[in-house]
Amino acid sequence: MKLGCSYFGNRILRHLAQDMKTLANQGFNFIVHTFSEFDLMFHKGNMKDIVSVTHDAGHEVHLDPWGIGNVFGGEPFSNFAAQNIFTGCQELDDGKPAPFACPNNPLFRDYMKGWIDAVAQSGADFAFWDEPHFHNPAFLGGRPGRWGCRCSFCQKLYMESRSAPMPKEEADDVKAFKRECLREFVGKLTKWAHEAGLKNALCVPPHLGVNEVREHWSLYTDVPHLSILGTDPYWMWQKKPVAMVGEYAVELKKLCDEANLEPQLWIQNCRIEKGREDEIARAVELAWEAGIKNLATWGIEGCANESWITCDDPPKAWEILVDSFRKWGQSVK
Ligand SMILES: [Zn+2]
Repeated sequence: MKLGCSYFGNRILRHLAQDMKTLANQGFNFIVHTFSEFDLMFHKGNMKDIVSVTHDAGHEVHLDPWGIGNVFGGEPFSNFAAQNIFTGCQELDDGKPAPFACPNNPLFRDYMKGWIDAVAQSGADFAFWDEPHFHNPAFLGGRPGRWGCRCSFCQKLYMESRSAPMPKEEADDVKAFKRECLREFVGKLTKWAHEAGLKNALCVPPHLGVNEVREHWSLYTDVPHLSILGTDPYWMWQKKPVAMVGEYAVELKKLCDEANLEPQLWIQNCRIEKGREDEIARAVELAWEAGIKNLATWGIEGCANESWITCDDPPKAWEILVDSFRKWGQSVK
């Protein structure tokens, strides 16, 4: 059983070392550390130490390009987007740039090579590719009602692949083209990470209905050098019943079995509402019933250290999560 936890918001080594030991005692055996643009600029040395003390506590170490370029999941601001708004970012259908790097832009791809080098030099085990996406009108920095990307690189690629100019509307074929671009981008990242000595895990969000995700996720099953394919059905965040976790877990397990990949399911431990903490135990149970043996949670201690996503009662949410993980973890020993 692999049990993981995300960790962020602290770069003080003695506190972090203590937390890593506590997490090991609680039954966790891998940690997803965030490695943002801020870390890449100012904490490279700290990240090596962080990887080292995390290994010392017995964990496997996964590093997450948290919020980088606003292309990967997470809240951090993007200096890349600020510095390269006209040369490295997405252009929306209103003709204006948006603060999201374009996955097809060579400048951004070079930036990601630099990130991979730093991750490899830190001694980490895995690059954790966290929800790569184009501009999202409904999330941080997104412009409602608009879509991207229509930058010159995207338009050129569209013309090459479709022998037609890119439409102004985000038609179904444009959506398909964007999915193909993300798949190609992720394939480059996993190849470069592999060449740098890293293993690869990918998390794709469950933004489509459960009947549609298979087509989307299956794009990624032949990504080179991919070991783990995961998803994060955060039912309470999406205002859905907890049964959602089981539905996506079953689909993920089926797909991963066919593709010889290890399925990883993320269990919500953020924005859990007061009085509904028991649903966390049910979510873990549903993942287990689907046969998934690699579970992770976002994030440590009910995300009490980030008020924007914290649970209403973080200690309670965390206690139930840890107890549930421990229960299923012990059942396979
Ligand atoms: Zn573009």
